[in-house]
Amino acid sequence: MDATIPQRLARLRARIAIAMTKYSRAPGSVDIVAVSKSQPVEAIAAALAAGLHRFGENYVQEALTKIADPRLTGRGIEWHFIGPVQSNKTRLIASRFDWVHGIARLNIAQRLSEQRPEQLEPLNICLQLNVSGETTKAGAALDELPDLARAVARLPRLRLRGLMTLPAPTQDIHEQRAAFHKLYQAFHELNKQGFQLDTLSTGMSDDLEAAIAEGATLVRVGTAIFGARGSAPAHDALHSTLK
Ligand SMILES: *Cc1c(COP(=O)(O)O)cnc(C)c1O
Repeated sequence: MDATIPQRLARLRARIAIAMTKYSRAPGSVDIVAVSKSQPVEAIAAALAAGLHRFGENYVQEALTKIADPRLTGRGIEWHFIGPVQSNKTRLIASRFDWVHGIARLNIAQRLSEQRPEQLEPLNICLQLNVSGETTKAGAALDELPDLARAVARLPRLRLRGLMTLPAPTQDIHEQRAAFHKLYQAFHELNKQGFQLDTLSTGMSDDLEAAIAEGATLVRVGTAIFGARGSAPAHDALHSTLK
C-alpha cells in the first residue's frame, strides 16, 4: 500500500506510543532519528515539514550533498552519522555532523576530537557495542567497553553520550530484547562507574518495540518513515508517495 511520509510518520508515532505505554516508558523519553540514507532531499524536506528534525546518514559523500542543500540549510536539522567511520573521512564527519553513532575504535575517536572545529560544540558520540558475538564483527566487545569509554570521555572535543548497537537481525522479539538488554546492562554498568550517559541508540523499523522495552532513547528509523530504499525515483518523493 502506498502511503505518504506524514501518514507513515503518524503510524510510526502510534507504534512508539503504544510501546512506550506497554513498557512503562516516561513520556518524551524516546526520540526518532529519521534514517534518510538513499532518500532524496525532497523526502527529507517532507519529513522535516512533518515535524522531524534529527536525520541519520550512512555515507559521507551522499550526506554532504544533502547537508549543503539550500532547501535544508538553516532549518535546525541535527545530523547524525550512523555508518561505519573510515579514518580518511573523519575530518568531513567532524566538521559537518552533530552526532556520530557507532564508534568502536579509540584512534577514530581521537581523530574526530582533533578535527572537530573550534567554533562548533563538542561532537556527540555513541560507542558501538557488539551484542551478537561472532555473528557480526561491528562494535567493541563488552570487556573492551570500559577502557574505551574512559579514553573517549577524556577527549576534549567529544561528548560521550551513550551506546549504540546493531544486533544480528531476527524476527523473534525475545531474541531482539535479549540483544538490546545486553546494551542496557552495559549502559547501567558504565553509569554506576561514574559515566553520565543519557543515550541508548537502538532499534530500527523492524525491532523498535523490543528496543523501547529495553530502554532505547533514540530509535533510528528509515523504511517505516520513507518507505523502501532505492525503489522509487526522486520525483515520487516530491509528492511524498514513496513506498
Ligand atoms: C539503515 C539503518 C537504519 C534504519 O533501518 P530501517 O530498517 O530502514 O529502519 C538504522 N540504523 C542503521 C545503523 C542503519 O544503517
